[in-house]
Amino acid sequence: MQRAQNEYDVVVIGGGPAGSTTSTLLAQQGHSVAVFERETFPRFHIGESLIPETYWVLQRLNMLPKMQASRFIKKYSVQFVNAVGRESAPFYFWDNRPHECSQTWQVERGEFDQMLLDNAREHGVDAHEGVHVLDVVFEGDQAVGVRIKEADGTRREVRARVVVDASGQAAMLQNRFKLRLWDPVLNKGAIWTYWEGAYRDTGKDEGATMVLQTADKRGWFWYIPLHDDIVSVGVVAPFDYLFKNRKGSHEQTYHEEVEACPAVKKRIDGATRRTGYFVTRDYSYRSKQVAGDGWVLVGDAFGFLDPLYSSGVLLALKSGELAADAISDGLQRGDLSAAQLGCWGDGFNEGVDRMRRLVCEYYDGFSFGRFVKQYPELRGTITDLLIGDLFTDKVDKVWGPMESLYGPDKRAIPTWKQGLPQDEAPEKANELITPEAPRPHEPHVV
Ligand SMILES: Cc1cc2nc3c(=O)[nH]c(=O)nc-3n(C[C@H](O)[C@H](O)[C@H](O)COP(=O)(O)OP(=O)(O)OC[C@H]3O[C@@H](n4cnc5c(N)ncnc54)[C@H](O)[C@@H]3O)c2cc1C
Repeated sequence: MQRAQNEYDVVVIGGGPAGSTTSTLLAQQGHSVAVFERETFPRFHIGESLIPETYWVLQRLNMLPKMQASRFIKKYSVQFVNAVGRESAPFYFWDNRPHECSQTWQVERGEFDQMLLDNAREHGVDAHEGVHVLDVVFEGDQAVGVRIKEADGTRREVRARVVVDASGQAAMLQNRFKLRLWDPVLNKGAIWTYWEGAYRDTGKDEGATMVLQTADKRGWFWYIPLHDDIVSVGVVAPFDYLFKNRKGSHEQTYHEEVEACPAVKKRIDGATRRTGYFVTRDYSYRSKQVAGDGWVLVGDAFGFLDPLYSSGVLLALKSGELAADAISDGLQRGDLSAAQLGCWGDGFNEGVDRMRRLVCEYYDGFSFGRFVKQYPELRGTITDLLIGDLFTDKVDKVWGPMESLYGPDKRAIPTWKQGLPQDEAPEKANELITPEAPRPHEPHVV
């Protein structure tokens, strides 16, 4: 068993996309970095559809040749199907930006996350699996390391000049300091499973993500084609609607929603279900602050946004990149203050706000088809948002025209800052329920 040193420049909690990104970029810049991941990879994770702007971070990570050589299905577009089954024209990323960055991938996360973590190791990161971080160690307000429990049960302290919390929805420091703000409107849940032999388009449409609205418009399905002839098919709807007022099992609820979405029903007709049913609460949230003295939050440990536009991995990679650069700069200058480590937070939040607004507009009746018909000259800008080009105000020109299509009763969308702090909403928590045989790539019918 590989044993961790007792001291590093940076310790990262969690080896998901955010943790691997932050650690790799720091190691590239010559810093000593350890990652502690409690699971043994490959482990199951949801979040399979990438969006094109991940390209630029993957390029910095030297991951592109590995992605290009992988079996992951290539994704060129996203397409929307409305409540009466009408399909929008696909939003082809390439038409908007004819560059190789416009082709992205549908990934099996067990494999993808393992590739990212192995890549971190190749860049000199000391990455440990099966090691649980129990707590962050502080001296006064300054984070100075972590307490870990190793695979053999040994507990000890590892010191670091900076601690990065990339623990995903476990959100270790956000919980410790009660920093969480729940989103006031995005309170959803999801049920999904994996199908083999379901319908697939051909050619450049094979890997399209489809977003299909249910007949009563209360929910939508994702339809994400993966390799090995597997398709990930999940329904997202308001939490209460999906879980509180239903009598049957999750399986029953899932199939009732399939019945309410003929476009999904016909696509999975005759396919074989390969796993049981996965369930999550998907309450969106963000932390009130991105960093403190000697610590910084990245990925879902900072915030989680509704999965409608598949932005989670992009936000994990992007926050990891921005945090790594701020940390590296701080280490060189001897400034590990909250202000230095979190200097990227405001700009990042603005980008997330743009994606959040697009999410909320969809739930509030926005139709891509209608918008593009009315404003064909803005098709490219809407596509920019869908590819994840969020960190620039050039995309803000869509909001005015979008508002011009509002009905008379539509009210302004509350910002996330109008959410409830964590301690005022103790009953809220996100959780994942996995079936017995969770890995979609291991054939097992339940
Ligand atoms: C229903 C649903 C659908 C989604 N669909 C998409 C999608 O299509 N596309 C997309 O881009 N995103 C999607 N997402 C979002 C995506 O899953 C996340 O945003 C993304 O995984 C965040 O990466 P991360 O590295 O921050 O966290 P994670 O990937 O969760 O990694 C965190 C890691 O930290 C480890 N960890 C936690 N606590 C500890 C500890 N104490 N000690 C050591 N290790 C620890 C965990 O084991 C885990 O491996 C979806 C999310 C949901 C809920």
